[in-house]
Amino acid sequence: MNERAKKTPQQALELLIKGNLRYTSNNLLEHDRSVVQNELTNAQYPFASVLGCSDSRVAPEIIFDQNLGDIFSVRLAGNVASKHALGSLEFSTEYLGTKIIVVMGHTSCGAIKAACDDFKGGNIGTLIDDIRDAVKDEKAIVNPEERNSGNANFVDRVCWINVQNQMQQILKDSSVIQKQVKAKQVGLVGAVLHLNSGQVEFDLKNALI
Ligand SMILES: [Zn+2]
Repeated sequence: MNERAKKTPQQALELLIKGNLRYTSNNLLEHDRSVVQNELTNAQYPFASVLGCSDSRVAPEIIFDQNLGDIFSVRLAGNVASKHALGSLEFSTEYLGTKIIVVMGHTSCGAIKAACDDFKGGNIGTLIDDIRDAVKDEKAIVNPEERNSGNANFVDRVCWINVQNQMQQILKDSSVIQKQVKAKQVGLVGAVLHLNSGQVEFDLKNALI
């Protein structure tokens, strides 16, 4: 059995936290990608799944300082838990044995900003439909003139609410993952990457671990 299979969700989370610390302190591991590539030709043992945004600045392998084969990465603008995203996540937990699912939003997210501005139309609009609830669920900012992408505070709040909503969506629409989380085989945690510092802020208070 690969070492990965023995890890707990808590240990998987700690690996990500430590990796992000290495990234923010510019103390990166020396990853020998060629050796790993040989090992990974016929199998993979990722320990974490990340549902993240497609944004070019948020690559999970880089910001968590991990090597090839470490992170099963599902990326869609706005880190939405669409049916296809759920299929990918289920594959990773059920068949590859990942121990934790991180739903990771980020600051200055274009998809979140588009939802804040009620963008409509085309396939982008369809994707934004999956984020609109987060805008509705934001109740703290009442002045309509402050409820748009020009207000960074509003955008940040909607970003966090969207992370929580997508976590709920995973539990609601994936009986497979719901069962694994309930049995504590797989952890589920929300997070937001701060682009200015590279720091990933985990919402440990609402983590299911
Ligand atoms: Zn984004």
